[in-house]
Amino acid sequence: MVERNFERLPLLSGVLRTTAAAARNARGRAAAKAIAAVRRGKRRLRLARYLVSGEACVDDDYALSILASLEPRHDHVCPLCGFAGRFLPFGLPPRPEARCPCCGALERHRLLAYVDRSHGILREAKALLHFAPEPLIATTLRQSCLLYVSADIADPTADIQLDIENMDVPDGTFDTVLCSHVLEHVDDRRALAEIRRVLMPGGRLVAMVPLAEGCRRTYEDPQVRDPGTRELHFGQKDHVRRYGADFRDRVRDAGFALREFTGEGADAIRFGFTFGEKVFVCEKT
Ligand SMILES: [Zn+2]
Repeated sequence: MVERNFERLPLLSGVLRTTAAAARNARGRAAAKAIAAVRRGKRRLRLARYLVSGEACVDDDYALSILASLEPRHDHVCPLCGFAGRFLPFGLPPRPEARCPCCGALERHRLLAYVDRSHGILREAKALLHFAPEPLIATTLRQSCLLYVSADIADPTADIQLDIENMDVPDGTFDTVLCSHVLEHVDDRRALAEIRRVLMPGGRLVAMVPLAEGCRRTYEDPQVRDPGTRELHFGQKDHVRRYGADFRDRVRDAGFALREFTGEGADAIRFGFTFGEKVFVCEKT
């Protein structure tokens, strides 16, 4: 009955048809949005599954909770570039709030920069040899040190190509050697002996390594050689050991006296350090 009345009122009937078409279009747009959201969601799920396991064998809720856990929530300050705000996730498996979005500094870069700023362990160097140079740190040190040399066994962008276990460098050339996350890749006894040799009397090695502080002894096994098994045993395909608390003994046995600086307390929150991470300052004795 109502429709019939509307048919007698062409204007109103036209308005209603237009409204109905608009509603169909709106439903169409809503449906398209919903489909796009589902597609985005599926892409996110695939990403999350990959992040977790490399294959689709985790349930969707778990995968989504992983993504949610990576959402930056807190403000930090970067000691390298001064950025203040939210840091981004980084790494596989991903670490939330790990990377400065401004300069790219990670937790260990920020800790090293902070310790250097507080104690001048690097910027006071007159002749510094930097192994496996992190570009961020290298840029700063190149400006602050009288003589700065970057070195890597393979990287052609380093100033010199150098084998840390067998350096073609005269005795007593440098007053400071920096190697962050290098010693766990190499024969560290040979490397430490070489570092000591190229240091001047009283010179120092500034070192960072991944360290399982709760393990009294370093775990290594020369039979573990292939990359996949090394990843299983040592946490990375090109690592040759997992350091325990006796890392300090290895350094002392090589002829160094140790000081150590730890990422901890309110500063670790403010600057986004990994709690318990260490910078070792090892003075040649
Ligand atoms: Zn930064």
